[in-house]
Amino acid sequence: MSASVDRYRVRPGQRFRLADCDPEDNSTFDGEREAAEAEFAALNDRLEALQELLHAEGRHRVLVVLQAMDTGGKDGVIRKVFEGVNPTGVRVASFKVPTAPEMARDYLWRAHQQVPANGELVIFNRSHYEDLLVVRVHELAPEKRWRRRFDHIQAWEQMLADEGTTIVKFFLHISKDEQRQRLQDRLDDPEKRWKFSLGDLKERERWHDYQAAYEEVIDRTSTDSAPWYVIPANRKWYRDLVICRILVATLESLDMTFPQPADLTGVVVT
Ligand code: ADP
Repeated sequence: MSASVDRYRVRPGQRFRLADCDPEDNSTFDGEREAAEAEFAALNDRLEALQELLHAEGRHRVLVVLQAMDTGGKDGVIRKVFEGVNPTGVRVASFKVPTAPEMARDYLWRAHQQVPANGELVIFNRSHYEDLLVVRVHELAPEKRWRRRFDHIQAWEQMLADEGTTIVKFFLHISKDEQRQRLQDRLDDPEKRWKFSLGDLKERERWHDYQAAYEEVIDRTSTDSAPWYVIPANRKWYRDLVICRILVATLESLDMTFPQPADLTGVVVT
């Protein structure tokens, strides 16, 4: 993979620190904004073609995990980066406060039901990682219980990978000040106000607890089979560009080809 794609990948075995990652960084692009838009548009077309191939070939499964602080841009990424892909082969699974049937089972049950099938690309909008994030910050389970989940999740993702699922995990990294600005924008804009909830302000008070929880999650669960990418996300155009580059590189590495059914040789449509 190219340096611009590798730049934000968290290597296993290195102590990961969120403080070392600048949410304002845009160092892998040094041209004009128009050039970034042109690169993004070309990558977006390429992503569309690769997803078509994924669907046609029907051999690989792709799981994209999206995690972020509130206002971090998960919805924006889903809208922009996946604009134009064929909805037949792409699915978004959103993970909210667990329902009663979900609470009555182990925490991975609901995630496992949503994993991609052959030829499918599934985006986890939040994910099983909430069970190590919100659950930790709000003490929804005793520490002894959630701590074991680092190992469970690593093993579960390894199993998915061993069985043919390609996993990429993105943390959209914004600064606390950027979040303030985005929450304020939501309040001020009548078309965005529906997204605002007073609960967001309560969560914001726990900013540092969440950052610590994310740091440990990323440090302990970025593996070769299921890497975390920490994406500088204060600038939306840069966030989308970097994610698109990573997805294109990941799908290209699968070396997919369109199926060529042998028994059609010589068939002519009259
Ligand atoms: P989003 O913020 O993703 O656009 P919502 O505003 O509906 O969507 O928020 C979903 C909420 O569900 C978040 O507050 C998140 O912390 C919560 N949630 C997700 N998974 C869990 C979980 N396993 N346990 C408790 N809360 C969860």
